[in-house]
Amino acid sequence: MNQKIISRIAPTPSGFLHAGNVYNFLLTYLFTRAFDGILHLRIDDYDLPRYRRQYVENIFRVLDMLGVDFDGGPGGVGEFEAEFSSKFRLGAYKNALKKLEQKGVCYACECSHSMKNSFKNGIYTRVCADKNLKFKKNETAMRLSTIDGAQINVRQNLINFDALGCDSCGEARMAGGLWSNAQKAQDGTANGLKNLTNLRGFGGGKPGDKKFNLNAVENPKKCILNSANSDGLNLTDEAAFETEKFAQTQSVNLAQNLGDFVVWKKDDTPAYNLASLVDDEILGVNLLVRGEDLLACSAAQKYMAQMLGYVFENANFIHHGLLVQSGKKLSKSSRAPAVNVADGAKIHYKFAALKLGLDASKCDTLSNLLEMFKEKFGR
Ligand SMILES: [Zn+2]
Repeated sequence: MNQKIISRIAPTPSGFLHAGNVYNFLLTYLFTRAFDGILHLRIDDYDLPRYRRQYVENIFRVLDMLGVDFDGGPGGVGEFEAEFSSKFRLGAYKNALKKLEQKGVCYACECSHSMKNSFKNGIYTRVCADKNLKFKKNETAMRLSTIDGAQINVRQNLINFDALGCDSCGEARMAGGLWSNAQKAQDGTANGLKNLTNLRGFGGGKPGDKKFNLNAVENPKKCILNSANSDGLNLTDEAAFETEKFAQTQSVNLAQNLGDFVVWKKDDTPAYNLASLVDDEILGVNLLVRGEDLLACSAAQKYMAQMLGYVFENANFIHHGLLVQSGKKLSKSSRAPAVNVADGAKIHYKFAALKLGLDASKCDTLSNLLEMFKEKFGR
């Protein structure tokens, strides 16, 4: 079956974006655009207590700086809050939970992380699995049962991705893809996810002209992102992007890696794994580009998709390494320094180019980066 790539850039508005987020945005953009895919912007505001409007503003500022354009998603903070927030899809998440309950694969859990017997090495010990508790807001969460020993295969086969295989049937494929997507768009619109109805970009923002100082251009194994005018941004990363991983399937023992995981939180809102899966299904996402720290999440979502009968079950994944600064992996929880928009986009393009083993000296605009990427990875 030939398939058009449908992907999404899906930041979480729970902190300011760091260089690792930008790296992920650029990879997602390149993989989607290089193969004429459809790219959505989806702001995952599932964690409402940590939501801050300034984080959403920050997302738009950074995307604007990068000049990344989208085929679907909000065009600004106001539109996001008025039409695209996950709040509008609470019904869809609840339906998914109900379906899982009907299948008898989840149970209510009253434990908290301070209860020592409930967790072993961070994995839930299933003490509530047979208690037959009912969900009660602020008292119980819902967990999904995992199966001991079961392996979930997470495909990362972009190189064999069906979209690459068929040149002559491109138009038919596109028509088919858009049609099925338009159908989904109608459902999605009602639920706060518009797609293909909002074909707007971010104006192809011109990269800043600030000076950058990029070392190690000669050696793609060692990338240094070092902005001359920035105190905060000085990033080294020894590991190049491992392209050979594209064709690999990674196998995850879900019970061992994640355990019976929470799908519905005590505050009566969906957990990330459930909400993100439902949203991906609504958008028809079939390629996820995300950090390798989310490998277990990918397996969890695939497992759930199987139980829910979602098309997402066949999704492809690219898990990339996390950027490292002073020996620490960049993440919002590790208080990674925020991206300084004044640094401009160029430094980020070149950094991504180095990681991908491209000639960084030819990648000082987004379109040049895309061309170089296509040359190396395109059909
Ligand atoms: Zn429990």
